[in-house]
Formats: sequence, C-alpha cells, structure tokens
Amino acid sequence: MHILTICYLFASVTFILGLKMLSHPATARKGNLLAAAGMGIAIAGTIFLYRNENGAPLGNYEWIFGGLIIGGIIGTVVAKKVKMTAMPEMVSMFNGMGGACAALISLVEYNHLQHLIAAGESIEGMSGTVLVIVLGLIIGSISFSGSMIAWGKLNGTIKDYSFAGQNIVNIILLLATLLLGAWVVIQHGEGNLLYVIFAAALLYGVMFVMPIGGADMPVVISLLNSFTGVAAAFGGFLYDNKVMLTGGILVGAAGTLLTVLMCKAMNRSLKNVLIGSFGGAHAAASTTEGVQGSYKEISLSDAAMVMGYANKVMIVPGYGLAVAQAQHACHELEKVLVDKGVEVKYAIHPVAGRMPGHMNVLLAEADVPYEKLLEMDDANEEFKTTDVVLILGANDVVNPAAKTDPASPIYGMPILEVESAKTVIVNKRSMKPGYAGIENGLFFQPKTSMLFGDAKKVLQELVSEIKSA
Ligand code: NDP
Repeated sequence: MHILTICYLFASVTFILGLKMLSHPATARKGNLLAAAGMGIAIAGTIFLYRNENGAPLGNYEWIFGGLIIGGIIGTVVAKKVKMTAMPEMVSMFNGMGGACAALISLVEYNHLQHLIAAGESIEGMSGTVLVIVLGLIIGSISFSGSMIAWGKLNGTIKDYSFAGQNIVNIILLLATLLLGAWVVIQHGEGNLLYVIFAAALLYGVMFVMPIGGADMPVVISLLNSFTGVAAAFGGFLYDNKVMLTGGILVGAAGTLLTVLMCKAMNRSLKNVLIGSFGGAHAAASTTEGVQGSYKEISLSDAAMVMGYANKVMIVPGYGLAVAQAQHACHELEKVLVDKGVEVKYAIHPVAGRMPGHMNVLLAEADVPYEKLLEMDDANEEFKTTDVVLILGANDVVNPAAKTDPASPIYGMPILEVESAKTVIVNKRSMKPGYAGIENGLFFQPKTSMLFGDAKKVLQELVSEIKSA
C-alpha cells in the first residue's frame, strides 16, 4: 500500500475517534487535538507524497504554502481572540469558508473540463463528473452565503428580513437552480450556465437564512454545517481523495444528526427549517400580552439565606452566565452550598447560551463535576422536589410562553419548568428580554424574585454572604 493511502487511512481513523471523544466533555479536548493531528498528517502527506499518473508531484508550492501560512495565522489569531459567547459567529464564518472552498473547487474543475472539451476530448462519460461538480457548487454556495448571513445576524449587523410569499419564492428559486443544474449535467457541462447556477445558489443561501430569526438560529447553523460537509465530500469524489470524502461525510452526518437533535430540542420540524419559514416572521408580533403586573426584588442577604437553608438548590445557567464569565464564581457558590449540606445540581437546556453544548463547555471549564449536570427532562422531574431554583442569566429557556402562548415565537419549544420548584430567584441585570426578544411572564409570578446585577459580581457577593453567615 502506498504511504499516502496509509496517511489517509490513519487520518480517517483519527476523525472517527476524535468525533467519538467529542461527545463527552472529559475527552472532548483530546478528541479535537487527535482529529487535528490526523488532518495535519493528511495535509502534509498530500503536499509531499502525492504523485499524479505521470509520477509528477503536486507543484504550485508557493501558492500552497502561502495559503497555508496566511490562513493558519488568521485562523490562530481569530480562534485565540474569540470570546466564548462569540463562538457561534466564528463557527458560522469558518463554515462559510468551507462552503466557499467546495464551490471554488467545483468552478475550477468545471473550467478544467471546459479546457478538455475545447481540446477535443470526448464528452461521453463526463456526466458523472459534471453531476458531482454541479452538486458541490450548489451546496457549497448555499452554505457559503447562508453562513455569511448567519454570521451577520449573530453579531447583530444583519437584521431579520422577510416578505409575504417568501417561502414560495424560495422554493421556486431552489427548484430553478436544481433544474438548471440538471440541464448542465444533461449537456455534459458544455456552455457557461454553471456561473448562473453559482449566482442562483448564492442568492438562495441569502434568501433561505434571511427570514430566520429569534431563537431558531442554532438549527440553521447546524444545518449549514452539514451542507458544507456534504459539499466537501463531493470535492473528495472529484479528486478521488479518500480522506476528503471521509471527512466530508463525517461532517455532513454529524451536522445532520445535530440538526435533528436541535429540531427536537426546539420542537421544530426539519421541513420548516428547509423552507426557511420559522422564527423571525412571527418575531415582530412577539407577545407581551399576558405578561403584566409587578415583579418583586430580593436582596443579596435574603437570597443567600434562602439558599443556605434549602435542602436542594438547582442552578439554571444561561447566556448571561457566559457573558459575565461567571462560571468559576458559580462553581464556588455550589461548593459553599454543598459545604453547608445543601444538595446542588445544574439544569441544562439544550439551547441555553449561543451554541449547542455551550453550558456544558462553560461549566466544564470551571471543573463543575459532570454528574451534577442534568439534562432537561431529568431536570424537569427534579424541579418538583427543589426548594430554590437560581436562574443565572437565562431567559428564553425558562419562558412559560413556550407552553402557554400559541402566538409566541418560541411556542412549542420545550423549556425548563422551573415553576414546579418552591422558590425561583432570577439573576439578570435588568428586565430586558433575551435572544428571542420577548417578555417573560415567569419574572412576574408570585414565587419569583429578581436579583439584579452582573452574574459574576452577584455570585461573588452571594459566596461571601453565605460564608460569613
Ligand atoms: P437568553 O438570550 O434568552 O437570555 C440571556 C439573559 O442573560 C438576558 O435576558 C440578559 O438579561 C441576561 N444577561 C446578559 N448579560 C448578563 C450578565 N452579565 N449578568 C447577568 N445576566 C446577564 O439566554 P438563554 O440562555 O435563556 O437562551 C438562549 C437563547 O439563545 C435561546 O433563545 C436560543 O434559542 C438562542 N440561541 C441558542 C443557540 C444555541 O445553540 N444554544 C444559538 C443561537 C441562539 P439582562 O440584559 O437584563 O442582563
């Protein structure tokens, strides 16, 4: 067996093992490193060991190393500087770059094919290659432009936009793109129609993500991620490159699984995601009805006392905990309470924060024992026997409107049912809404008390208050 094939086989195995290890916080970091090392070997092997059918090496080394060095520096700096809460933006941007690469590969190979045709090569038997080129181009382009819009939305530079009948227009645009693609395949790649398909797919990516808003972005990001994987796998087909194929299929499959899981967590159907019809369209009419009345505040010392004398405290972490970087202070509070004989657990909502698994990663960073984290269904059971729920910078994931108000943009999303506990203390800085932009009736309920302030500061003060009691 050729050494390069062994490199590819080795890399594919590291991808699979890495992916497996990513599924548990304790091994995730090592899994990431392992897969990255495998990718490094696959890249180095391709650069130094590849030989074409005439035995010639890859060549173009100045371009390859130029790209590697510039891309490597940008990637390292961006990844080092990124704040945990801005991670989804970065993932969207990197994912978009992957889609763009797949689309560019298709364009380059299409050009290559055109040259062969111009040189009089037979077009018979080229349909398979053209099909792969067209599919890679369409999926890669949608992934690129869609991810760029998702990136803009996540960092707040692009607002949701939709118009009446947008779903119909989207479906027509997608069908037209696919029909044009089929035509190019039937024509064995002759003509310049591919550039029209490129433009149409880019436009579809924009139109598809533009109306999606509110709390539904995680599903879209994960779906676009799976698109990029599939587009990369088509690149692997084109170059007969096994590791690109395996990597692409793994990303595609993992992204699809994550999309399905996220859909379940948000109670959305995949069909709705695909035609881009949820979230934002209703967000403008978001409900404030039924969310009225007054809220009551609790002082730090009272909150400390209520928790200090409780049998069981459940902590609900949310986006605000990540913004405040209060995970260490939170773990400190947990330890102080445990020392006082209080049972403390964490209730984790699957879309709390701004990326899948955000709260798990955040709490793992502070060495919170993994066994203390309860998934939503278990947590909802446990709330019934809980004395105090402490909500730290979470809002949408505890909003009862998801169960009670059919007009709410988050209606149908399973939530953490904190109201089953005896007392609820909510820590946030103001009465402002969360990501979905809607009021939260929980804050006005008789068993709820608001503990205003930055999560880190409040937690530190609670710790010293409980310690000195
Ligand atoms: P939310 O965005 O609903 O609410 C976060 C709350 O944190 C805000 O209401 C804010 O209130 C408060 N907050 C902000 N900064 C601080 C701080 N320094 N200290 C204390 N509180 C603070 O968060 P949730 O986690 O409840 O819900 C996540 C939302 O994000 C869902 O709608 C989800 O669909 C969406 N989403 C999730 C993704 C994922 O993959 N997990 C990806 C993209 C979106 P105030 O300003 O008053 O302090």
